[in-house]
Amino acid sequence: MVLAANPCPCGRFSPKETLCECPPSSIRRYQARLSGPLLDRVDLRVEAERVTRAELTADGACGESTATVAGRVRAARERAAKRLAGTPWRTNSDIPGRELRNRWHAAPGAMDEAERSLERGVLSARGLDRVLRVAWTVADLVGRDRPDARDVALALQLRTGVPRGVPMAIGALT
Ligand SMILES: [Zn+2]
Repeated sequence: MVLAANPCPCGRFSPKETLCECPPSSIRRYQARLSGPLLDRVDLRVEAERVTRAELTADGACGESTATVAGRVRAARERAAKRLAGTPWRTNSDIPGRELRNRWHAAPGAMDEAERSLERGVLSARGLDRVLRVAWTVADLVGRDRPDARDVALALQLRTGVPRGVPMAIGALT
């Protein structure tokens, strides 16, 4: 499931630019229309910056090719399927949270920051499971046997939208 939303009623709000003239109260009301319980079920939250005409038409503006990304996804799925051989599951998203926590382990200490986020109330229990699940997928994409602190940090960053100094590109994590 993919959801998309504007940041404010006019759609131009950005912390970096001042194109938006929506009053703060209407921005808050607008953003509050996405309920917490709904957002808690969204694993990856990415802010899309406005793209300028120059960026849109520059050489290499499209980044990696679809074929390159598809190859990486295929390799990640194969890695997960190999790990899950002999279980009823094929992908990280298939595994029930309880099994995910008990049967496969992230690197020692890798989940510390995520667990602190749960204690501080930044993450729900569901959120913590989702972070672990996404961290496994990051590890699969990068080609690691299990998630380390960087993979968990990226998963946390994607979930909370709070930057943690982790590059958003998988290629930068290898
Ligand atoms: Zn606005």
